[in-house]
This record gives sequence, C-alpha cells and structure tokens, in this order.
Amino acid sequence: MEGLGEIRFICDDALGKLARWLKVIGLDTYYRNRIEDAELIEVARKELRIILTRDHRLARVLDQQGLPYLFLEENYPALQLKEVVGHFQDRIRLRVFTRCTECNVGLEEVSSEEVKELVPPFVFQGHKKYRRCPNCQKVFWRGTHRPQVDLQLRSVLGELYDRLKENVWSDEES
Ligand SMILES: [Zn+2]
Repeated sequence: MEGLGEIRFICDDALGKLARWLKVIGLDTYYRNRIEDAELIEVARKELRIILTRDHRLARVLDQQGLPYLFLEENYPALQLKEVVGHFQDRIRLRVFTRCTECNVGLEEVSSEEVKELVPPFVFQGHKKYRRCPNCQKVFWRGTHRPQVDLQLRSVLGELYDRLKENVWSDEES
C-alpha cells in the first residue's frame, strides 16, 4: 500500500451520492452540502484534495488557480463512481467499509467482545470481525451491507472492482 490510499478527494456540493460511494470503497472523501466554492477551494488547497465537480464555472476557477480537479462527464452517481475509479485506477485500491460513510474517518478494528452489546444477537453469532468509527462509534461488519453492496459495486465497476478490490474482510465466511 505504499503510496496508495493517500489520494484524497473533495466533492462539490452537488455530488453527495458519489461522495458516499467513494467512502464506501474506502477513499478519503470530503463532502459537505451547501459549501461555498471559496471554502471548498480552501479545504482542497489546505488538505491537498483533488476536487470532483460537474460545475463548469468552478472548473474554470480551478484552471485559473492551477488546482487539481476532475470534471465529471457522467450525470448518475453510479457512473460517476466508475468514472472516478477508472480515472484514478493506478493510484487507488478499493477497501470496502474501512471508512465511516458519515464521518469520512478510517474505521478501527475492534474485537467482537467490544461490540457484543452494540450489534443484534444474530449478527454477533454470524460474524467475528468488526470495525468501528472512532468518531461516531457506528459499528460495521461484513454482513452489514453485503452481499448487496458487493453486487452493486461489481455491476457498476465491472473488472475494475475485481482488479482493485482488497480483501479487507477476508478472515470471514465468503
Ligand atoms: Zn462515523
């Protein structure tokens, strides 16, 4: 993972759904709705984030300021996700549910004992591996959103998904 996983994004405020998907696959993605362009640019500059946008006016400003951005051609979040992953495929790996989809913070691995009281009994029986957001304390486990998320990602990303995906939940049942 040397040099990988360090790429950081910031989505303009029209790209909330894309931002969520990027966080699902583990990419550091800043998003706030109703953020002013000036503030978005400031965050991008300060935190060295690549701006994702479909806003031509903003793109012109970014050109003038020499800031890195990707102008998205696609209109639908799923296709935008594929566009971003395809564009940056040499610099990213997909690590599904290793980042909180609310807080954009990396999840911590926690023991099953630590989350015993926090997850439903049927979940606790079926899973050994858990991750928790150090910020909001939300608990994630492999079964949380799978296999739907797996299926969705594979259908959206195709071979990119199989090629770039890391098995971060691999000690569990498949
Ligand atoms: Zn969180």
